[in-house]
Amino acid sequence: MDFTYQYTEEQEEFRKEVRSWLQENIPDDKRAPVDRNELSDEMYAWWRDMHQTLAEKGWLYPTYPKEYGGGGLSGEHETILQEEFRIARVVNGFTNSLVFPTLLVWADDSQKELFLKPLLSAEKVAFQNFSEPNAGSDLASLQARAIRDGDDWLITGQKIWISGQRKPDILFGPMVTDPDAPRHRNLGYFMVPFPSEGLDQERMNLLSGDDQSVFFFDNVRVPGDHLIGGEQQGWQVTQTTLEIEHGGRGTAMPQDEALEHLLGYVENTESAGEALGADPLIQQTAVEAYIDSHVFSLLSLRNYGMYMARQEMSYQGSQTSMFGKEYRIENADRSRDIMGMYAMCGIDEPRAPYAGAPEVYQRSSLVGAHPAGTIEIQKVIIARRIGISRTRERAAATPSTAGVSGV
Ligand SMILES: Cc1cc2nc3c(=O)[nH]c(=O)nc-3n(C[C@H](O)[C@H](O)[C@H](O)COP(=O)(O)OP(=O)(O)OC[C@H]3O[C@@H](n4cnc5c(N)ncnc54)[C@H](O)[C@@H]3O)c2cc1C
Repeated sequence: MDFTYQYTEEQEEFRKEVRSWLQENIPDDKRAPVDRNELSDEMYAWWRDMHQTLAEKGWLYPTYPKEYGGGGLSGEHETILQEEFRIARVVNGFTNSLVFPTLLVWADDSQKELFLKPLLSAEKVAFQNFSEPNAGSDLASLQARAIRDGDDWLITGQKIWISGQRKPDILFGPMVTDPDAPRHRNLGYFMVPFPSEGLDQERMNLLSGDDQSVFFFDNVRVPGDHLIGGEQQGWQVTQTTLEIEHGGRGTAMPQDEALEHLLGYVENTESAGEALGADPLIQQTAVEAYIDSHVFSLLSLRNYGMYMARQEMSYQGSQTSMFGKEYRIENADRSRDIMGMYAMCGIDEPRAPYAGAPEVYQRSSLVGAHPAGTIEIQKVIIARRIGISRTRERAAATPSTAGVSGV
């Protein structure tokens, strides 16, 4: 059965328009670098402006409502844009886009004006402010404290591993509003402006680069209307963010450049006078890599279809997330088996295949097992949702199931 998208004539016209616009407007020296840590300050500033231009065209966040700065376009348009952005090596928007579905479900109209508009128009950038030194997998045990002070809140605590390039304008996430309330009813979900007095950022240096930060909060004053949902509803709001983060929105066009490199290497490299692909063991390894990548694509496509059709979801997001994390690590192993030491040659090494992208993949596939819930945590969620755990849970509300417009 052919699962590839069949586009209409109008959609193919749209593709042509996008492709030629990107060819004219994205100069070669501004295209996404192989290692995103190589994005210079000058390029970052250029892309901040370009993201606003793309947002004005409705192309940056295509499916979100037009009235709040999204494109108001269909899932098919989104897929075409993703495909063309990839070819043109467009740098992704700097906001952690999990904030959009969260605000669509939980923010009131004035908060949507206040936060959703500047974020969807790419005027501002937001980072996801969840994890703490003692609260990662067990997020509900977080300790950062929000104390009421008149109409405002004062926040004190520490958040860690917060992803995002350079500096945010907003940090979004849960804080303890009532330490005496039972677990899951003791949190509020805040949009914290950055910079703010008492709020400091320190960058981390991980295997994958310096895209993560620690944020220190010392009595940071946050206005009352920056609380999303009720002051004890933060866990439910958080669940909406996590539902999407755990794979619940899927994607129609998962990108697997690492697989393309691996297959290209097998096809185009010679060893001892023979094509590498003539070796049956190499063939076997390459086909296993291909199958896993293809399975992941189909799982992602299924989720995307269910999400766009507003179907109730259960284990599907975590199943896809778990499979994705596992197979990427396996494919990194396979690319080492096939490319040998060349898989470990970095971007500065002239003999590195594909300008060093396989080496970047070695690091990012490992580090990628942690954000958005580890492999073990995806298994815990699946168990709860298929009824083989001590506790049971249903999927959290998303824009898809909550019936709001723009998904
Ligand atoms: C590159 C990167 C980017 C990140 N980006 C962000 C971000 O933008 N915002 C943000 O808020 N956080 C972010 N994180 C943090 C991420 O969400 C946490 O690392 C993750 O939730 C795991 O938490 P932890 O690191 O504290 O590990 P722990 O929770 O301490 O887990 C340690 C190990 O124990 C296992 N484990 C824990 N509980 C169980 C269980 N019940 N059953 C079985 N095994 C278990 C885990 O799988 C893991 O292997 C990022 C992390 C990384 C590495």
